[in-house]
Amino acid sequence: MYSNSLTPSVTLVASVKQAAKEQVFDTKAIQKLDSAHYLHPFTDFKDLNQKGARVMVRGQGIYLWDSEGKKILDGMSGLWCVNVGYGRTSISEAVYKQMETLPFYNSFFNTTNVPAVQLAAKLVEISPPQFNHVFFTGSGSEGNDTNLRMVRRYWDLLGYKERHVIISRHNAYHGSTVAGASLGGMSGMHEQGGLPIPGIVHIGQPNYFEAGRGMTEEEFGLKAASWLEEKILEVGAEKVAAFIGEPVQGAGGVIIPPANYWPEIQRICDKYGILLIADEVICGFGRLGKWFGSELMGFKPDLITFAKGVTSGYIPLGGVLVGDRVADVLIEKGGDFNHGFTYSGHPVACAAALENIRIIEQEKLVEKVATETGPYLKRQFATLATHPLVGYADSIGFVAGLNLVRKKADVVHDCVLFDDAQSVGMICRGYMFNNGMIMRAVGDRMIIAPPLCMTVAQIDEMIELIRSCLDQTLMDLQGRGWV
Ligand SMILES: *Cc1c(COP(=O)(O)O)cnc(C)c1O
Repeated sequence: MYSNSLTPSVTLVASVKQAAKEQVFDTKAIQKLDSAHYLHPFTDFKDLNQKGARVMVRGQGIYLWDSEGKKILDGMSGLWCVNVGYGRTSISEAVYKQMETLPFYNSFFNTTNVPAVQLAAKLVEISPPQFNHVFFTGSGSEGNDTNLRMVRRYWDLLGYKERHVIISRHNAYHGSTVAGASLGGMSGMHEQGGLPIPGIVHIGQPNYFEAGRGMTEEEFGLKAASWLEEKILEVGAEKVAAFIGEPVQGAGGVIIPPANYWPEIQRICDKYGILLIADEVICGFGRLGKWFGSELMGFKPDLITFAKGVTSGYIPLGGVLVGDRVADVLIEKGGDFNHGFTYSGHPVACAAALENIRIIEQEKLVEKVATETGPYLKRQFATLATHPLVGYADSIGFVAGLNLVRKKADVVHDCVLFDDAQSVGMICRGYMFNNGMIMRAVGDRMIIAPPLCMTVAQIDEMIELIRSCLDQTLMDLQGRGWV
């Protein structure tokens, strides 16, 4: 059907698009080639080869279509990134125009390019006032590698050579490069490849469902923040460079901290002069109903990692917003900063980001999530808590999660959980998948992060889909005698 030629000709593009519309893919053949040659990220290769991957061929708005012609509601925005939804022709046009004009030039050696300059200025405009500079990377992981090198450089330049330790949290996700995975707190990642690297330590996450027994959310918020101070004192304040955290933990399972958590973290960082890094790779660009999640969570970071939503995933791009406290030192005392990437400030990626941000502004997606669709999602998602399988359901902006439990209880901490080995989350995810709903499972917590362009009617459609999949999961589990 489509040519084997690797020349990206217009005909090839047109024919693939046509094939996608007409659904004339040979799924088995694609799966066979996929198994033969493509090692997927975070995947059990052998297991996938036996099952065969689902082949996605087309996207429009909040929907995807696979090679079998099945329409799927994408509750995860791709991978937390397609904030403006699929099929935005104006982004493809901006990318095409930039490729025709200047597909690439580097920003090393006293050189710059127009989209990178415009995007840096735009990011400064939409970010909190302490940010006036941007460092571009190709991904969120590289953004966090940049943070690690930048905060250590900052303290070196100020003469505090010992101040190199970065404190992060268990179950955090900060990417998959060596520094990213080390900053992250995923035990499955640390087990492979001798991570974390030295100089990175972790504290508990503010997970009320898991660790808040016997406390109000407020009490737990202070408790979870106090773990930071304990760790600072254990390591020695004179050795701690920075604390890093996601305003709301994403890949860890949409862990929404109590409202007083971040202000208390800020107070502790200020008390010891420690830099505060907000990893906003998910929370940035409207996800929580503000341009950046730290604004909603009530803290003022010195550095912000961004990626994903900056281009809505149309082209890879990431980076770090550098606050004045750090930028002033790097600029005034720094000399060469020996760090950067071939694709730092890639003109095509920056052109995609500029158009993406223009769409977010024009369609007022941030305001909509804050005042209209976000509150509506919150109300509708909360109704799922009445389902017999759901012990706890919460949301903020356009992220939400619910915990599947064997037996409900009035006090969430008294819910009876399933055994990990039963993999109930994966069973539930299977029903979602087969019914055309993408909802992710993190253990037995089911999570969503839909495109910000989702309408109120589409929220209704999604909630009904989720509810019916929960019903099917319940019947399945009853059949197994697990509930
Ligand atoms: C996805 C993610 C990253 C890593 O970004 P990549 O572009 O995959 O390298 C870092 N931090 C957070 C919070 C993320 O969700």
